[in-house]
Amino acid sequence: MMITDHLIAVYDRPVPRYTSYPTAPHFHGGIGPDAMTEWLIALPADAPLSLYIHVPFCKKMCWYCGCNTQIVARHQPVAEFTETLLAEIARIGDILKASGHKCQVSSVHFGGGTPNSLAPDEFERIMAALGHHFALGADLDLAIELDPRTVDAGFLAAMRRVGVNRASLGVQDFDPVVQAAVNRVQPFDMVRGCVESLRDAGIRSLNLDLIYGLPFQSVSGLRRTVSQAVELAPDRIALFGYAHVPWMKPHQRLIDDASLPDSYARFRQFEAAAQALLAADYARIGLDHFAKPGDALRVARDNRTLKRNFQGYTVDRADTLIGFGPSAISAFPQGYIQNAPDHAPWARAIGEGRLAACKGVAITDEDQRRRAIIEQIMCFGRVDLADFSFDPADALAGLMPLIDDGLAHLNGTVLTVTERGLPFQRVVAAAFDAYLVPEAKRHSRAV
Ligand code: SF4
Repeated sequence: MMITDHLIAVYDRPVPRYTSYPTAPHFHGGIGPDAMTEWLIALPADAPLSLYIHVPFCKKMCWYCGCNTQIVARHQPVAEFTETLLAEIARIGDILKASGHKCQVSSVHFGGGTPNSLAPDEFERIMAALGHHFALGADLDLAIELDPRTVDAGFLAAMRRVGVNRASLGVQDFDPVVQAAVNRVQPFDMVRGCVESLRDAGIRSLNLDLIYGLPFQSVSGLRRTVSQAVELAPDRIALFGYAHVPWMKPHQRLIDDASLPDSYARFRQFEAAAQALLAADYARIGLDHFAKPGDALRVARDNRTLKRNFQGYTVDRADTLIGFGPSAISAFPQGYIQNAPDHAPWARAIGEGRLAACKGVAITDEDQRRRAIIEQIMCFGRVDLADFSFDPADALAGLMPLIDDGLAHLNGTVLTVTERGLPFQRVVAAAFDAYLVPEAKRHSRAV
């Protein structure tokens, strides 16, 4: 693939990751608890649900962190959070039940933060509450994000008891120099031990998260990290670009700008890691995921049922995602809605018997069309605009430079991202974003 420095200079610009459309910067305070109640009540009784639980606690701050979390030295805040979360689950469960909804759930995802900040009995109580208020199917997809530094035998036993079947481990890079530079030291042997314990605990699908663009990373170092990751034989590997946004995440100022790779080096790091993964028989899924043969993401890509939501690429088919916990985002057929990002207002709202929704956006028919097109581009790199009654002429101004530079190809109404254009998939999708305003500091860079 020929990617010139010219292309990187022109197209490595801030664009959304399109885990939603319209994207989160367009959420507004006009959508709140009343809208959420209305949207919950309006759901068809048998609409399958997907649940997301945000656990906003960690033991130690990783300096690259872009998540909504807080560092806690004591367990008390986590215990209080658990009680509030149980009340939030009951509140939403009651609204759905009162409206006659069957509450069938196909997928539950624990993210954070660090979900294994919960004590084992807290985790089991949360699962019991979900089981009480929702119908968790026998084939439930039950996934959790884990910090390998803090997964202990007690938590593993709880995971086994509640039937967790998918786990994702944050790895980033195995190089001790890089780990020290981002304040997250976890030697390879520690991660290998964690992987073995997870497999013993019945995890059938394992994902490792890697990051490129971190301080002191190099092409050769990333190749080494990928080779070590492949040795652990995870079913999936995600390869994310570090988003350096210290104006939004002040702790990132602890990372010395001078130690960060520039756009060109970042691009070469991604390419080197991606090539190493392809050579190890992982297939590229969308923007940043890689999956082994037989993995559900890979099957979904091949049969064109792959979806994209706030957790990234998913095989979950539910159109409704209900988020619990501070900052959690819910997706309804009618729009998106986000809980209060900070713990205190979230806990206050739930404590007062209200929902904690604080902002969101309603989706118009035009948004739905554009969202479907953007999702197809992000998942498959190809979309037939005629399927969405979309006239290519309406996006031609944004697409023409991409087509001229060989990043996309338009044949009638079928738009394809070329191999050359794959690293710029988000930029191609952005041609259909009616809300996008060029603003350097809102989104991470494309590469
Ligand atoms: S463990 Fe994850 S959420 Fe917690 S500080 Fe590190 S990167 Fe952020």
